[in-house]
Amino acid sequence: MPAFCGDILICIRVLLSLSAHVFCFVILDMEKEENITKKIVILTCLKSVDCCTGAACLAAFNNRTGAFQRYQAEELELSAFFHCNGCNSVLEQDNGLLEKLDRILKIHPDAVHLGVCTLKKETGRCKTIEQFIKVFQDNGIAVIDGTHSSPRLPNIGMPIAK
Ligand code: SF4
Repeated sequence: MPAFCGDILICIRVLLSLSAHVFCFVILDMEKEENITKKIVILTCLKSVDCCTGAACLAAFNNRTGAFQRYQAEELELSAFFHCNGCNSVLEQDNGLLEKLDRILKIHPDAVHLGVCTLKKETGRCKTIEQFIKVFQDNGIAVIDGTHSSPRLPNIGMPIAK
């Protein structure tokens, strides 16, 4: 075989190996784009803190049950778990509450989930929680009904309507 044929074969092998590497990089990049981690925040009622450990919310988050079933195949990060400041606090006058809100907005979560404790059997959600919902929705953050399952949550896992 003439020497230049051997050179051509070497060139073809190098080109094939290079294109295989480029192909791998493209596939890895596509996978990276598909696996974007979603940031989740949980908001609960301060009154629940007296008797609640948050374990049921965290179990639902970790096991993708309850309201978190909607993220079955997705990567999630629990970015914050926070409470309101109590029934006597007024959002506009409560610096601590405003600071909490500011921190959550800076995280810019994909969704804020409302614990069942924020929903009273007789009266529904209180004014404070309604204000939170509005601030999040006005900032383009989805607010989702519920964390763990409860008979009080017929719309569990559904976005709260504006
Ligand atoms: S303001 Fe609403 S969420 Fe906060 S403690 Fe009172 S009832 Fe619970």
